[in-house]
Amino acid sequence: MRIARFSIDGNVGFGSVEGDPADGPDGLVIDIMKGVPFGEFELSGTKVPLAKVRLLPPVLPNKVVAIGRNYAAHAAELGNEVPDAPWAFFKPSTSVIGPGDPIVYPSFSQEVHHEAELAVVISRLCRDVPRERVKDVILGYTCANDVTARDTQRAEKQWARAKGFDSSCPLGPWIETSLDLDAAGDLAVTATVNGELRQAGRTRQMLHGIEELVVNITEAMTLLPGDVILTGTPAGVGPLNPGDEVSVTIENIGTLTNRVVSRG
Ligand code: MG
Repeated sequence: MRIARFSIDGNVGFGSVEGDPADGPDGLVIDIMKGVPFGEFELSGTKVPLAKVRLLPPVLPNKVVAIGRNYAAHAAELGNEVPDAPWAFFKPSTSVIGPGDPIVYPSFSQEVHHEAELAVVISRLCRDVPRERVKDVILGYTCANDVTARDTQRAEKQWARAKGFDSSCPLGPWIETSLDLDAAGDLAVTATVNGELRQAGRTRQMLHGIEELVVNITEAMTLLPGDVILTGTPAGVGPLNPGDEVSVTIENIGTLTNRVVSRG
């Protein structure tokens, strides 16, 4: 199932996106959900064309836990060593935007980069999750762009501003719930800017896989329903400028597209 969050006529809800994305938005409909995807729900059977709704971020996470340098080729392109253990940082809930929302270029940076990433969406409150239970705490997967002010990241020891500014965490277009851990662990991840391919990798190139990341993070903190883990970016990161259109596509999930705009 592809779970989207959307608004129509001032109402916000969840629904199941049906149809083949290859047919374009005109071929897709949303079956409106009764309830929420983190608890009991059923599909209402009431369907609206996707073109008639505004897609929102598929979740509003309490926190986004992101992993740095989880692909060796990306660490190398920035001249960095890879860490022995997962290297986690936070993106605040206020950084999250949805498909089609603008990425607002921050005033303090001259060098904003895209980072295409697989995002894991957590289904339930969990802590100290053992490896064999990881599959039970994952609702599904979506596309993310870990937008980064690279100059600020170099200048400041903590990455709160560099990776936490408003609009620096596009998520979407929906949560794909049908992928098991093996499938999610070998998906093509790409980023394009104005249609030009910039990043192309596969999730199997992660140094620390999905199960290891969930175990590592929940050793330290409770994850809540809707929390999101960004799993790191493959090589090919590069600059975004106002006016650019950036798309993150993940095989068997979908495409997340956002435009970069100037501040003010
Ligand atoms: Mg990243």
